[in-house]
Amino acid sequence: TQRSLVLVKPDGVRRGLTGEVIRRIEAKGYTLVALELRTATREILAQHYAEHEGKPFYEPLVEFMLSGPVAAMVIEGERVIEGFRSLGGATDPTTAAPGTIRGDLGRDWGLAVQQNIVHGSDAPESAEREIGIWFPGL
Ligand code: ATP
Repeated sequence: TQRSLVLVKPDGVRRGLTGEVIRRIEAKGYTLVALELRTATREILAQHYAEHEGKPFYEPLVEFMLSGPVAAMVIEGERVIEGFRSLGGATDPTTAAPGTIRGDLGRDWGLAVQQNIVHGSDAPESAEREIGIWFPGL
């Protein structure tokens, strides 16, 4: 089986959508293997978003991700990386397909950063890297 690192971002936690995200993950049949509500740090985010460093949305993204707690979790299941990205939907919540987390629950708030409720790892190597960042030792 496979593991993925999922975050309910600060907008999702603030809006009370943590339970809804977990409900969809569990209803799909994936297993929660770690779950923690916590506020990120610049150190963690610098690692987590290393690939975006230098992009125009990088600083606003980091500030947004520091704006409140995130629900960090590791989920497990056959092809869970692809599976969760499919549950989450496209990055832009305005055009993400209805039926997905972002498509059903997200929209464009006219802010500098896409506030799109969730993060999910995009490949096996990034999943293991991100799990090491958020849950060292797991
Ligand atoms: P993730 O699950 O990490 O969000 P993603 O493919 O949806 O993956 P990435 O391209 O990895 O998104 O970008 C990471 C995050 O940065 C996005 O989820 C979004 O919050 C923000 N972001 C990405 N592109 C833009 C953009 N053009 N303008 C503003 N914010 C952006």
